[in-house]
Amino acid sequence: MAPQLDGYFKQVDDMSNHFIERLRQAVAIPSVSSEALRRPDVVRMGHFLADELTKLGATVELRPLGKQHGTNLDLPPVVLARYGSDKKKRTILVYGHYDVQPAEKEDGWNTEPFDLTVLDDGRMFGRGSTDDKGPVLGWLNAIEAHQKAGIDFPVNLLMCFEGMEEYGSDGLEDLINEEGKKYFADADAVCISDNYWLGTEKPCLTYGLRGCNYYSVEISGPGADLHSGVFGGTAQEPMTDLVRVLASLVDTDGKIQIKGIAEQVAPVTKEEEGLYDGIAFTMDTLHEALGSKTTIFEDKKSTLMARWRYPSLSVHGVEGAFSAPGAKTVIPAKVIGKFSIRTVPNMEIEKTHQCVYKHVQEAFDKLNSKNTMKVYEQHSGKWWVASPHHWNFAAASKATQRVWGVQPDFTREGGSIPVTITFEEATGKNVLLLPMGSSTDGAHSINEKLDKKNYIEGIKLLGAYLHYVAEEPMV
Ligand SMILES: [Zn+2]
Repeated sequence: MAPQLDGYFKQVDDMSNHFIERLRQAVAIPSVSSEALRRPDVVRMGHFLADELTKLGATVELRPLGKQHGTNLDLPPVVLARYGSDKKKRTILVYGHYDVQPAEKEDGWNTEPFDLTVLDDGRMFGRGSTDDKGPVLGWLNAIEAHQKAGIDFPVNLLMCFEGMEEYGSDGLEDLINEEGKKYFADADAVCISDNYWLGTEKPCLTYGLRGCNYYSVEISGPGADLHSGVFGGTAQEPMTDLVRVLASLVDTDGKIQIKGIAEQVAPVTKEEEGLYDGIAFTMDTLHEALGSKTTIFEDKKSTLMARWRYPSLSVHGVEGAFSAPGAKTVIPAKVIGKFSIRTVPNMEIEKTHQCVYKHVQEAFDKLNSKNTMKVYEQHSGKWWVASPHHWNFAAASKATQRVWGVQPDFTREGGSIPVTITFEEATGKNVLLLPMGSSTDGAHSINEKLDKKNYIEGIKLLGAYLHYVAEEPMV
């Protein structure tokens, strides 16, 4: 199957220095979306991509998104591009982002963050190398290698590259919804390369993400902060109430105590259970990542299920509480506890809100406190799960086997990538998360890197995926 791939792979190898140079040029543009002063660099990065795509023969549009929320600052444009419009071919829509997290050498980088540094062992350090400039350029490189090798590009490629991902994707959701049945109308499936392998050795395909409902519970009483030497024992204290309310939410083993949550969780099917067995993940890796052995479960499967397919509740902090070192004897007048629930199929956002509000209200009522309590949502995002049996995944699985010589793990992630569900809803098509980098790349931290092997084999993988997409029977 897909015999053209040998020629394509050889071409990618022959051009690997050129592709690394292209990544070097991209990393050199400090497109930090969260810093207003860097905005011109973010825009420059969008133009860089547009120019590269135009040179490759793609039709490109730079779509303005208006002003950044609550500011007078122009948002960087979304790069929309199309390569090929052959009615006989399938059309794949790919997404990536060209902005990056902030980075300063003083933060603890061993190298200049915006100067791609390739070590002899193949590690390529630079901000954005793995998140997400490497994967974005992967699509461009795949196009170029096909041209140079004289191999027909197997699909029509639609591209959507944004410049605000690391700062909330301001304006993108509206654009995707708007274009779902216009610019993206002929997309047969969607592929996003903006996540990571579970470990360092084995590639994976990701078919699910948890959602997140974030809450505040606010308790107030006295008109101002008090001194415990004067008022201790005379007033009911908001902090005492809050601690007791927060303690009622979840137990030491992470079991959520709110009625109506577990009831919403989809049961585990036999088929799903089978997906966990071979996954390259060990409790040792987890202990290392945690920096402790304080895990809730002792085995891999329960741990992965708890991270991917069951909800979890975390208490994050208390606003208004005394948190500095020392022994200040303040009684805070108002405290706001923050907690969130990572949500999974088939939990509903609104139904979950109602369960949370009811539980918190009852927990507070039980205290018979004269203080005042309010519980409210800060923000919510829905979970996502795709069918790993869709041809989109089958194609990616075959491509992975061809390039890496192994069956990929089918993974979910405990976190959220909100754009995934936006694309699914706007296009009505299957969405695949196809990562290029590995778990040690340090996407948001200092010394971010992409391994040369992951980059070059990743370019092969993206191209091979498109060839297998073209061959998969339409179901
Ligand atoms: Zn990213």
